[in-house]
Amino acid sequence: MDSSNLKAPPTVSLLDRFIISLEKVIKEPIFDCRMCGQCILHDTGLTCPMRCPKNLRNGPCGGVRPGGKCEVLPEMDCVWVRAYERSRRLPWAEHFFQINPPLDWQLQGTSSWANLLSGRDKVRPAGWEGREQDFDEYVGFAESMIEDDL
Ligand code: SF4
Repeated sequence: MDSSNLKAPPTVSLLDRFIISLEKVIKEPIFDCRMCGQCILHDTGLTCPMRCPKNLRNGPCGGVRPGGKCEVLPEMDCVWVRAYERSRRLPWAEHFFQINPPLDWQLQGTSSWANLLSGRDKVRPAGWEGREQDFDEYVGFAESMIEDDL
């Protein structure tokens, strides 16, 4: 195999490694964090969406089982059912209806704290900006449907 066109892996500084380890040590036991590098726990009732076997970032799939169980892992509660229930108890419950952009898998394994500070987690895929506006109407509709629940 010709290895001349293979890129060298990006270098990770000692400080980066320290921050990544610190975030992992704190968030893994508490939230079962999968280190996606773009944390949205704040908007998901402090429930990590990356625990969903389908890695869904905007609500459940169509396969939620009776009793709120996961379609893929029936022994597990659906992450999004739990996220919804838990978000109801938070003072910022309405954030649950925010539409999240697609996950940038290049950030997997990096620190979401560092990405938040640098603004790297706000970089959107080309074409996404327009989509966020399209979704405004849907979000307003969803919020009004469960207004009484808040
Ligand atoms: S959303 Fe990402 S960074 Fe936040 S807890 Fe889940 S895997 Fe970790």
